[in-house]
Amino acid sequence: MSIIDKALEGNRTYAKTYDPTMGKPPAPKIAVVTCMDPRLSDLPAILGLPRADLDVIRTGGPAVTEDVLGELVVSNSVLGTREILLLNHTGCGFTTFTDAELNEKLSASTGDPSPAPMRFFSYKDPEENTREQIKKVRSHPWIAKDVPVRGFIFDVDTGRLREVKQV
Ligand SMILES: [Zn+2]
Repeated sequence: MSIIDKALEGNRTYAKTYDPTMGKPPAPKIAVVTCMDPRLSDLPAILGLPRADLDVIRTGGPAVTEDVLGELVVSNSVLGTREILLLNHTGCGFTTFTDAELNEKLSASTGDPSPAPMRFFSYKDPEENTREQIKKVRSHPWIAKDVPVRGFIFDVDTGRLREVKQV
């Protein structure tokens, strides 16, 4: 059985005890931008915050792209979140290659270079990545100045968060 078929079976069980009040419009309090890495999936536990309070935006890295900025603007202005937490982590897969290397590798292995150069937003240093993200988000004119924007690195070995301050 494929994992997707297994998931469909799991959903049938889930729906049996589903709380229909969950269908009401959400009212998250904080936007969290984090990596697609599965080790960051249990954010209510990692942050000790209720699931309903978290508006989670996930990308590889994470990278604060134009799309992510748009999502943050919607999160603040439409959904009503009032704080932004940028959550990077140690041991990120996006530090294990460069965009150029991956473009080259995939062009060769597939025999089709037409999508290159794709932007994968690889990076080397999580601290520097976090500082750039803070700057990008903080300087966006549609993110209100009274919304706190703070960046952290999650240590995958200890489970602890470390704040990255702007220099
Ligand atoms: Zn990652």
